[in-house]
Amino acid sequence: MEGRIEPGHLVWVPFGRQQVQGVVVGFAESSPVPTRPVARLARPEPVLQPWQVELAMWMAQAYVAPLAETIKLFIPPGLLTKDGRAPAARAKYEWVVEALVAPDAVAARLRTAGRDSAQACVLARLLQQPQAALARAELRAVCALKSDSTFHTLAGKSLVTLSGDEVALAVSPEDARGTAGRVAVTSMRRSGGVACGGSSPGKSTLAAETGADLALLRAMQADGLIALRERDPLPRSIGRPECAHTRAPMLTSEQQRVWETVRTHAFDDGVRHSEFLLHGVTGSGKTEIYLRAIGAALARNRQALVLVPEIALTPQTVARFAGRFPRRVTVIHSELSTGERYDVWRLVRQGEFDIVIGPRSALFAPLARLGLIIIDEEHESSYKQNAEEWGSFTVFYDARAVATQLAAITQSALIMGSATPSMESYYAMQQGRLTLLEMPNRVLGHREHVAREQVEAVPVASVPQGQPDHAEPTVYAELPPVEIVDMRQELRAGNRSIFSRSLSAELQTTLSAGEQAILFLNRRGTATFIMCRDCGAVSECPLCATPLTYHERAQTLICHHCNRRYPIPQTCPECDSKRIKFFGSGTQRVEEYVHQIVPQARVVRWDADSVARKGQHAAILREFVEQRADVKVGTQMIAKGLDLPMVTLVGVVAADVGLYLPDFRSSERTFQLLTQVAGRAGRSARGGRVVVQTYTPEHYAIQAAAQHDYAAFYARELLFREEHGYPPVQRMARLIFWHKNEAKAQAESERMALVLRRRAEGLLFRGDLDILGPAPAFFSRYRGYFRWQILLRAENPSALLTGLDIPFGWRIDIDPVSVL
Ligand code: ADP
Ligand code: ZN
Ligand code: ZN
Repeated sequence: MEGRIEPGHLVWVPFGRQQVQGVVVGFAESSPVPTRPVARLARPEPVLQPWQVELAMWMAQAYVAPLAETIKLFIPPGLLTKDGRAPAARAKYEWVVEALVAPDAVAARLRTAGRDSAQACVLARLLQQPQAALARAELRAVCALKSDSTFHTLAGKSLVTLSGDEVALAVSPEDARGTAGRVAVTSMRRSGGVACGGSSPGKSTLAAETGADLALLRAMQADGLIALRERDPLPRSIGRPECAHTRAPMLTSEQQRVWETVRTHAFDDGVRHSEFLLHGVTGSGKTEIYLRAIGAALARNRQALVLVPEIALTPQTVARFAGRFPRRVTVIHSELSTGERYDVWRLVRQGEFDIVIGPRSALFAPLARLGLIIIDEEHESSYKQNAEEWGSFTVFYDARAVATQLAAITQSALIMGSATPSMESYYAMQQGRLTLLEMPNRVLGHREHVAREQVEAVPVASVPQGQPDHAEPTVYAELPPVEIVDMRQELRAGNRSIFSRSLSAELQTTLSAGEQAILFLNRRGTATFIMCRDCGAVSECPLCATPLTYHERAQTLICHHCNRRYPIPQTCPECDSKRIKFFGSGTQRVEEYVHQIVPQARVVRWDADSVARKGQHAAILREFVEQRADVKVGTQMIAKGLDLPMVTLVGVVAADVGLYLPDFRSSERTFQLLTQVAGRAGRSARGGRVVVQTYTPEHYAIQAAAQHDYAAFYARELLFREEHGYPPVQRMARLIFWHKNEAKAQAESERMALVLRRRAEGLLFRGDLDILGPAPAFFSRYRGYFRWQILLRAENPSALLTGLDIPFGWRIDIDPVSVL
């Protein structure tokens, strides 16, 4: 096989009595163990590109994970099989229907509306020969009509004439086309998974919705209304979104300044390795910067990767990319089947797409000419593979760190954008590792701009790429005002409800004006903390500066970092008050309160329970977006990139719930959430209000969020992190042990802590290394398992763990985003 075999090849190797698959990572002259010859290549082409092998090796070392596991991340599921067969060839080819006329243009041309798809069918059929009349029976048959009523409706609108047994067009082909096209486009849009004008459903979907058969579609194609082509069966509109083409708008002066910086650093001579942090408030037009950067990368024959937190929640964002770069975008969607995933992988590898959009796993897409990586909403914790999740994940990687490494390996540009950058990224920027780009203002009047943009279909070649536009005089919008309600005052005024008087009044006003409200709970409150209702003091572990967790059964307070226990205070240590509150909350209770205030309000809940079912996210979101609900109550952020002009009130019911979780990131999370939530209100001329309820209005996270003041928050939070040696000042690792037996969980984690402490005593690790615990995790019981954890604070935690014998049941989480 010499000369034929390369790094990245999938091969069969003898292993014991059987053969197993392996991936070639390199060549060595000698081996520390006896070896046997490779049996055969599993596939003629390498399955991993050279840069992928390099990245997998880096990940194994950085995350203290087996190389086989990091390599697997790059191989689509289904490719690794026991018998070596790839997913069954998917020969079921389908027709793709694509609207050629943008929906807006169709609507503009439309005079008499025919809503019914049967009408469209009749019109389209008549359009095949606009001068001729057709027999009713024939039309009934091809359009699956049960009676002649459709003909009569059309005749009533003077679109057709009826004479005897025949039907003929009564209007110009233009008008008929307008009507038919609109109906067709509407139904395409309805059936497309991606909410963009003229997404492309398969033929069968369209047939089911409109009664159109292939012959009719061909007729419509001949008429220039739609395009038909054969495609391999990527899932409709998901793997291959098709959107109305858009043109790049003129940049605002702020965007212009930022884009100049990106262009000169990254794109003035081919593509240069460079890293940026784009800090722009919600609605400042960050996506436009991403689009320009992609344009520049493509123009230099390089490809782009766009990471988004959760594809299902960002349909409009996807549509914007697909609209600007028709045919060049594919989406890696969490709902793709194994076969579909394989198809996307295969097509990306074949170079069919130049832009891959997806969640963190999109990092492993086999783009051969990567030149740009974008991470939108980089502060989102979903970029980290969550070690708390159920399942057998062994590589708890952070997409931001992996992307940084990937950009270096492939000499690409990296842009991480957020309205509320993570402490880590902002810190890295301050240390000179990232270039800061700032857009402190919101773009106003975008609706008109967007509407204008979408009317014309623009071929990709005319998309300005790297050409500076003229800066236009721009108007910026105000961020919505935020009212902080002091719940201690409410209590003093005799209001014991979880709704302040202010929030109740705002809710009533909003709903009676026919507008919508979002009520937000900071986090699900599984366990609780203790707070004084009079002064807002929270019980904390004096050693870890961590809020203590109330354990009802044991009637005690526990520190989930160091496992110290404390008695429940009878009076507040700060003010002597006896009114101590055990905090927790639930979306259901909030819903009940809403109904007390406005009985007829239509409420949707968005929490762990209601979204448990796959796809529910999107359904709940749609219900709210289409205004079939007035109030959304939830623990999760509403999707990014959604314009919700009717949302004029955002209420944060209990800002404190997330603030006092025993996690050093709880202030940061709260600041991010409040800022992002506030950014959802006031997206239109109707304006918006934000009401934040809290027992600690003076807390810096709440104050800074209310003032939309990132800098103030960052400065204050950094002091806290510095004082306690938390990230980003120090790095951290978490070791979590899962066991069904509580005593065993504790014993094993105590053993491991001892081993680690002994290791740490070795010369190498003396100095700034800290081992906290073991302690039961905050979420200490999960699916019948008990979870104990050990926290490490060190400059390089992986170094302490490398080579360690790690028994089954442990999870190693380097740079954890949560320590709960
Ligand atoms: P962000 O990603 O920063 O939250 P968006 O990119 O979604 O902001 O932009 C907010 C709105 O402003 C969008 O509707 C977008 O179409 C519009 N917009 C952005 N840049 C421009 C521009 N240069 N001209 C007109 N509209 C713009
Ligand atoms: Zn008190
Ligand atoms: Zn403690």
